[in-house]
Amino acid sequence: MPLNHLTEAEQQALAARLQAVRGRIAAAEQRFGRVSGEVVLLAVSKTMPAAAIAAAASAGQRHFGENYLQEALQKIHALEELDSDLKLEWHFIGPLQSNKTRVVAENFAWVHSVDRVKIAQRLSDQRPAELPALNVLLQVNIDAEPSKSGLAPQVDLLAEAAAALHQLPRVKLRGLMAIPAPRHGIDAQREPLAHLREIQQTLNQANPALRLDTLSMGMSDDLEAAVAEQATIVRIGSAVFGPRPG
Ligand SMILES: *Cc1c(COP(=O)(O)O)cnc(C)c1O
Repeated sequence: MPLNHLTEAEQQALAARLQAVRGRIAAAEQRFGRVSGEVVLLAVSKTMPAAAIAAAASAGQRHFGENYLQEALQKIHALEELDSDLKLEWHFIGPLQSNKTRVVAENFAWVHSVDRVKIAQRLSDQRPAELPALNVLLQVNIDAEPSKSGLAPQVDLLAEAAAALHQLPRVKLRGLMAIPAPRHGIDAQREPLAHLREIQQTLNQANPALRLDTLSMGMSDDLEAAVAEQATIVRIGSAVFGPRPG
């Protein structure tokens, strides 16, 4: 599939949005006493064409997040050549059914949305031997919303799942991910993110071998709150690529 390139004006607009998001991250790092440059920007490219990812990559972006498997695989395939030059890192962040784990294990560097041990077991079994272990995060349903996936925000339950994942040879449990319910204002936004951070601290204290070092939280509207609460990966879609169609 040929890449339909963006127009010059579209490329400039994308580069400017990317620059603005990097500026927000840098400002938040400074404001909240974080080490400069320590927060990783994951550009969430769901529903965006491969050409937009190519344009972001040529503006220096390396990490891309996708939610829908078929769409993601098409784009990963379309960008293979660019990928071998620029070493893109693909993160799967959407709901994952157990019959789809193999292609995820074969094509991604990270999975943020592991919500049961069985999925992680399959990812470990199916991770190709020539690739490094797959980085995985446990998704926590931090506001206990019936409509959202993720494990319940209960330390005992999460400790058990984390211990099970820690035993798997071909996945590396790196930490936790959450998608809180929308809130207005940074103080309100920080509450569920602080809760996720505290859960991770508790898991590390109870089981130091886990050494969880990654908190995936913060989207376009709560990026600053997430940096304040020690996010290490922020997942930013519309602020990077513009509003999604539909
Ligand atoms: C779409 C999506 C994002 C990005 O959302 P924006 O509000 O566009 O920044 C982040 N995380 C997940 C899991 C998503 O599905």
